[in-house]
Amino acid sequence: MTAAYIKEGHEIFRKSLRKFLEKEAYPYYEQWEEDRIIPRDFWIKMGDQGYLCPTIDEQYGGSEADWGFAVVINEELERVGSGLVGIGLHNDIVVPYITAYGTEEQKQKWLPRCAAGEIITAIAMTEPGTGSDLAGIKTTARLEGDHYVVNGQKTFITNGIHSDLIIVACKTNPDAVPAHKGISLLAIERDAPGFARGRKLNKVGLHCQDTAELVFEDCIVPKENLIGEEGKGFLYLMEKLQQERLVVAIAAQVAAEEMLRMTIEYVKSREAFGKSISRFQNTQFKIAEMATDAEMGRAFLDQLITEHMLGKDVVTKVSMAKWKLTENARKIAGECMQLHGGYGYMEEYEIARRYRDIPVASIYAGTNEIMKVIIAKNIGL
Ligand SMILES: Cc1cc2nc3c(=O)[nH]c(=O)nc-3n(C[C@H](O)[C@H](O)[C@H](O)COP(=O)(O)OP(=O)(O)OC[C@H]3O[C@@H](n4cnc5c(N)ncnc54)[C@H](O)[C@@H]3O)c2cc1C
Repeated sequence: MTAAYIKEGHEIFRKSLRKFLEKEAYPYYEQWEEDRIIPRDFWIKMGDQGYLCPTIDEQYGGSEADWGFAVVINEELERVGSGLVGIGLHNDIVVPYITAYGTEEQKQKWLPRCAAGEIITAIAMTEPGTGSDLAGIKTTARLEGDHYVVNGQKTFITNGIHSDLIIVACKTNPDAVPAHKGISLLAIERDAPGFARGRKLNKVGLHCQDTAELVFEDCIVPKENLIGEEGKGFLYLMEKLQQERLVVAIAAQVAAEEMLRMTIEYVKSREAFGKSISRFQNTQFKIAEMATDAEMGRAFLDQLITEHMLGKDVVTKVSMAKWKLTENARKIAGECMQLHGGYGYMEEYEIARRYRDIPVASIYAGTNEIMKVIIAKNIGL
């Protein structure tokens, strides 16, 4: 069944995007995994075709598309591989901070180049000592005349190497009570004095995605780079994290569907004890269970996307989708690898890569435990 938010225009768009990816991404993906980075020219090609930031206003280089188009982009990128997650992060997670809270000057300066792929963005919240407990971040931004002086360190930052513009969560008032009221968002540009990249991190999966540490030592950031108002950073993050979690849930659902598809193909083609392994009842039951989980996940997700597009309050349901769909996908990865036998453990089979890539979806964008904390609180516990 096609989701309510998908219309003919979205299907046409999906077809042309898939064609583009078949030419520009699928043939190179394994090489990018080996290189541990996606080349910048792929971003430019995405921008040229209108696949970056399609939802932003035309005057800033977008096409004022509805969020259904963003969903299609996230789905098709995930079909290529989870390592393209940084593009969805740019489109649907970082750029929206500028469109929602940026000044006219900031929008004019950055958005057209974000849509063209010339500016790659990142969001830096996590620090070596603080992840889930965001209010406890230690990076400070002290206002001195016409600029902020930023000191601190961030880690696990997606697009950390490529990024030209980073939305950094920092404390403009380290003494604020409660602590989250001291957090502000600053847009820090590539050439800011005192900004340096730390290590490019070696990860279990998402090999072509560049994840890095960022270091700010007396980093000078113009006052005009404040996003929104001082002290409101935590509020902005809480608002925009909903779409971030939804994007992670979408990717996990697509990964689950892809793993299931490739495993069904595999079990039909492999024989043991004189018959196709798809004829064993264990294989059939495992696949029946996974197909049920995937189908139920898809129904919940599509309904949730529709509600999100209508502007409804989806905090509880997004938290549910984020933990449940990433957990589904993780279980499906294990079962699908098992059904591939020894070949499932070989890098030449895509299930091996999918198995490595999926666990992080339970960790980033707020861990699944934090999702359950939110759900419990919102249902009155
Ligand atoms: C590949 C990758 C990419 C990432 N990209 C980004 C990025 O672009 N920008 C960014 O800012 N961050 C990013 N992160 C960071 C990510 O969001 C954090 O790792 C995550 O929020 C968890 O924080 P932590 O690692 O400090 O774990 P911790 O907060 O130390 O948690 C450790 C464990 O304790 C559990 N725990 C913590 N608090 C509670 C609680 N109250 N109740 C129950 N259990 C709890 C957690 O669920 C977890 O299991 C990325 C991480 C990875 C791995």
